[in-house]
Amino acid sequence: MDLQTYNKKRDFDKTKEPKGRTKKSQGALRFVVQKHAASHLHYDFRLEIDGVLVSWAVPKGPSADPADRRLAVHVENHPMDYINFEGTIPEGEYGGGTVMVWDTGTYHAEGNEDIKKDNSLMQKQIEDGSIKIVLEGTKLKGTWHLVKMKGDDKNWLLMKNKSDALSKQKEFTSKSILSDRTMDEISESNTEWSTEAEHQKEDTENLQKKN
Ligand code: MN
Repeated sequence: MDLQTYNKKRDFDKTKEPKGRTKKSQGALRFVVQKHAASHLHYDFRLEIDGVLVSWAVPKGPSADPADRRLAVHVENHPMDYINFEGTIPEGEYGGGTVMVWDTGTYHAEGNEDIKKDNSLMQKQIEDGSIKIVLEGTKLKGTWHLVKMKGDDKNWLLMKNKSDALSKQKEFTSKSILSDRTMDEISESNTEWSTEAEHQKEDTENLQKKN
């Protein structure tokens, strides 16, 4: 699991997105879903596996209806710090547009109760092209499946498990789970979300340690 593609695609003098470095969670694995108003509006579905966020771009976003199968295009890994990234990527830069933290929380492989095993179980699920996970987010809860389409490198399908007890939920709220803001409020705001400043401080500290 590496972040080379992520770092190559971005100019960190111009974007406030975090620089790529791996970082494993101490406890349960984490996930984030970010709403991203780039040239085409989409939702980025990201799962922590082995210290990076393995990522899919979902044009229509997750559906509360288990009958819906949503196209999810596998994209480059993102750094763990991206979980807190909410703000605007400058126009003309890669992925330019507003990013909202639409949902976040922890997750585990379906049927697994030993969180130490989740990284290796998830590696196997990625290789097999069949992901079965239990999400514990604010909006997304319960069992979700991500299945790789046959004969295709990048295209997967994201769906909620039919037999899930929580699947009666009909729709999701649209505001940020981090700041309670709408997309318009995020894009109009000149103030950066505070966690970004914290990460920049950390980055500076790490650079100083290196030098
Ligand atoms: Mn995106």
